[in-house]
Amino acid sequence: MDLKKHEIKANDELKLNKKLVQKLKKKKPKDLDAIVHQLHDEAFEEIDCLDCANCCKSISPIVRDKDIQRIAKYLRVKPSVFVQEYLNLDHENDYVFKNQPCPFLGADNYCSIYEVRPKACAEYPHTDRRKFQQILPLSLKNTIICPAVLFVFDGLKEHYK
Ligand code: SF4
Ligand code: SF4
Repeated sequence: MDLKKHEIKANDELKLNKKLVQKLKKKKPKDLDAIVHQLHDEAFEEIDCLDCANCCKSISPIVRDKDIQRIAKYLRVKPSVFVQEYLNLDHENDYVFKNQPCPFLGADNYCSIYEVRPKACAEYPHTDRRKFQQILPLSLKNTIICPAVLFVFDGLKEHYK
């Protein structure tokens, strides 16, 4: 995966994608979730996250209390030790990883805590969730990070032109 090429393409398309978001906010199409889910499946038929890992390299998930308990148990450390070693509070008072790339990302793009990874990691890039309408602005930002989200936006532009 050529992530530089992805970033250039995503930035080139940003203006059009912003327009798409405005259009979808106004139009509120009833079939939006169905179309997004279909595009999500098509995107991940083509894109292998192990060739990418751009989310793990460049942004942090929010790490909730349940995530902390589960990961600390898996790592056999006290939750407080895990927090101290790996997490910071962000400006909204949510825990996030101190460093990017994520400390649990291997050189082979595998996640070393995959089975117990934060819920936000498991749900990223949110293109298979319901009520996609509610996360249009977040997804617009994610077009810059995630090739699958950019693929979905390309499909949406085509579908709703
Ligand atoms: S979710 Fe998106 S950004 Fe993350 S590894 Fe998969 S394709 Fe890349
Ligand atoms: S915990 Fe795993 S899935 Fe989540 S950001 Fe880190 S490496 Fe990626």
